[in-house]
Amino acid sequence: MASETTKAAIVTGGTKGIGKGIARGFSQAGYRVLVVSRNAAEADAVAAEIGQEASGFAADVSDEASMEAMAAAALERFGAIDALCANAGIFPAAKLSEMTVADFDQVMSVNLKGTFLSVKAVLPAMKAAGRGRIVLTSSITGPITGYPGWSHYGASKAGQLGFMRTAAIELAPFGITVNSVLPGNIMTEGLDGLGQDYLDKMAASIPMKRLGSVDDIAAAALFFASDAAGYVTGQTIVVDGGQVLPESLGALEAMEG
Ligand code: NAP
Repeated sequence: MASETTKAAIVTGGTKGIGKGIARGFSQAGYRVLVVSRNAAEADAVAAEIGQEASGFAADVSDEASMEAMAAAALERFGAIDALCANAGIFPAAKLSEMTVADFDQVMSVNLKGTFLSVKAVLPAMKAAGRGRIVLTSSITGPITGYPGWSHYGASKAGQLGFMRTAAIELAPFGITVNSVLPGNIMTEGLDGLGQDYLDKMAASIPMKRLGSVDDIAAAALFFASDAAGYVTGQTIVVDGGQVLPESLGALEAMEG
């Protein structure tokens, strides 16, 4: 078995936001990381930024051949796939009255089918090794909470957990674990343009009074990937500063007193 410092990980959606944080976290922990997004130049640039042994690869998680090519590239470059962080996801908003079938299909295709295809692609290598760690990036939105405009997104994120539970059972005999991180509101480049007022409002609804960082999510993903989590499978960890806990606005106001 590879030592903790010579392992290899694939991070889909690794060029931005949470995925970039996970890729950096795994690289700092000693993993060789394949940074995956649809944009080859960005994947190469992020790989160069996060670590000497990181490498970029362009692939679309919603495309089976593309995911097979991704797994082949990881094997060719690193000789192993110890961990897969299936993180790529999209969240275009559309309320139900305006949502088209194409909107719904696109979100399911990237977030849910993309999870299935990226997991399926790494299985031959992980089964042959008799060991593997799969970490999905789900969300609190869907599994626990709702948000207007995100019914398709919430369904895809809850769907990942349904997928995970059966995958965890099927893959247990092969030494492969499958777990999920459920982020709350995380500070990413995507929120930069929203303005301080908007960010302050978001932070006010969180008991810890701050948005999460991508490092908060990377730490949870690293735990699931670690040897220490070898007996943990099919589980979720919410990383949200307590965001899902208040039962009403009153609960947040009562914190002041
Ligand atoms: P982001 O900043 O928009 O980054 C998304 C990443 O996924 C990019 O690298 C993007 O690169 C890649 N990507 C998108 N579509 C892809 C496809 N079809 N194939 C391969 N790569 C693709 O997103 P984020 O906010 O970090 O979110 C990452 C994950 O965390 C998502 O699963 C999201 O649902 C989840 N999440 C985020 C938050 C949050 O507060 N940000 C909260 C809960 C859950 P390209 O577009 O160049 O391909």
